[in-house]
Amino acid sequence: MTFSDSFLPPILLEDIAPLVAAVAGSVLLPGDAGYDDECAVFNLNHELAPAVFVVAESAADVQAAVTFAARQHRPVLVKTTGHQIVGQAHGAVVIATRRMNDVAIDAVGRTARVGAGAIWSEVVEKAAKAGLAPLNGSNPTVGVSGYTLGGGLSPTLGRSHGYAADHVRSLDLVTADGELRHVDAESEPDLFWALRGGKGNFGVVTALEFDLFAVPRLYAGGIYFPGERTADVLRAWTAWHPSTPESMVTSIAVMRMPAMPEVPEPLRGKFLVSVRIAYNGTTADGERMVEPLRAVAPAVLDTVRDMPYAEVASIHNEPTDPVPYYERGIMLREFPAQAQDKLIELVGPDADTTLVIAELRALGGAWDREPAVPNAVATRGLPYSLLGVAAGPLSQEQQLKRSVAELLDSMKPWQGDRRCVNNLAPDEAADAAAIYGPERYERLASIKKTYDPANMFRLNHNVKPAA
Ligand SMILES: Cc1cc2nc3c(=O)[nH]c(=O)nc-3n(C[C@H](O)[C@H](O)[C@H](O)COP(=O)(O)OP(=O)(O)OC[C@H]3O[C@@H](n4cnc5c(N)ncnc54)[C@H](O)[C@@H]3O)c2cc1C
Repeated sequence: MTFSDSFLPPILLEDIAPLVAAVAGSVLLPGDAGYDDECAVFNLNHELAPAVFVVAESAADVQAAVTFAARQHRPVLVKTTGHQIVGQAHGAVVIATRRMNDVAIDAVGRTARVGAGAIWSEVVEKAAKAGLAPLNGSNPTVGVSGYTLGGGLSPTLGRSHGYAADHVRSLDLVTADGELRHVDAESEPDLFWALRGGKGNFGVVTALEFDLFAVPRLYAGGIYFPGERTADVLRAWTAWHPSTPESMVTSIAVMRMPAMPEVPEPLRGKFLVSVRIAYNGTTADGERMVEPLRAVAPAVLDTVRDMPYAEVASIHNEPTDPVPYYERGIMLREFPAQAQDKLIELVGPDADTTLVIAELRALGGAWDREPAVPNAVATRGLPYSLLGVAAGPLSQEQQLKRSVAELLDSMKPWQGDRRCVNNLAPDEAADAAAIYGPERYERLASIKKTYDPANMFRLNHNVKPAA
């Protein structure tokens, strides 16, 4: 995977003039006021340093930026929020979409149409006013575009409704030839299949339209037990969740929360094992269902309650400000007693680890079913996603990577054969064919050849154009 084309020369002022004239947004070269601010990403250990930022305000700006990149033979990287960007993108044209963040809710048709720069908190808030909910992720500041194009595992409604990508109705996309295309099942069936799961490999999405659901409230939150009870809680959760209906979405996380101001109280500085609950049903049924978990041990904190959908970010209670960290995830095809023992050994009370979070999400249900219009999401049929997160400054990066590797490598005997692109470390040398599986990858590569034969969109987990 290439995140830098360091051999590319800087862009000259005279080269950039036509781009500046064509773009309503900002065109920023190194040294320009505002360039350094654009370099920031969510992970404090990394920052971008491209040849130019184009802070786009419209699809026409994106077209101008892509056309410029094509003429200069430069790669293009899209930055929505920078949640999954590591690497400096030397020599590249980075298109920042954050100003294109319109959110329009159609309460009658139950859809949202959002600009490429929208983040989940904006959609959740506006949809909730109409009693509706999207298939958002755990963190309110994650971008709708990157999340949805990578599949989008919603920890609130995913088990009953499937991946966010399964509910995309249409996308507007600027392809490598600079053309703006409206992509849906009828107009561009191949691109429509590839974009939903194939992520940033096929162009720059400028807007998306997707389904919303009539879910005004949930019985939801987190039960935080002392970390010393990891073994009891993990075993009880693993035995419990398969018997629950698809309207119950749940995960478990062993957390060693650093005493950093970015970590919300009362989790700051604590060693906890947390069970996350999102139940789309009555409070009475939810309470009955969760009762066996509550009986395992006294909780340090229990936030599971009847909550308006607008408050769903409180279920995971993740940092919303940038933090220094390293994370990576895999899928599991099973999680038997031996795997549970291994996890307890590696992250339980006796473990010597720098992991701040080891998170296991239980999947299944609609996540396993092909949507009405099939797409490139690769992970159906794999019942768990496992994520390791280690936090600390760049000077400790090798140690952070080692901790994550120790956890994930120990699960190899139970690892699934495909990967969730949203959980890939941006800098891991993952083989895209192994992520998608050979057949799906072959189809992606053939569509890539049609729409991006020169591989302009290569600063990602790259699908290479078919030969
Ligand atoms: C704290 C945290 C919580 C998370 N929770 C979840 C979760 O619950 N479920 C889940 O599925 N994932 C989750 N993720 C992963 C998240 O979905 C990915 O990091 C995703 O790539 C973020 O998208 P972004 O647009 O915000 O990020 P960016 O870093 O801006 O973009 C990442 C990549 O996405 C592609 N991309 C983004 N925008 C566009 C566009 N307009 N056109 C074309 N390509 C584009 C590009 O390849 C880009 O490099 C989480 C990540 C974090 C850090």
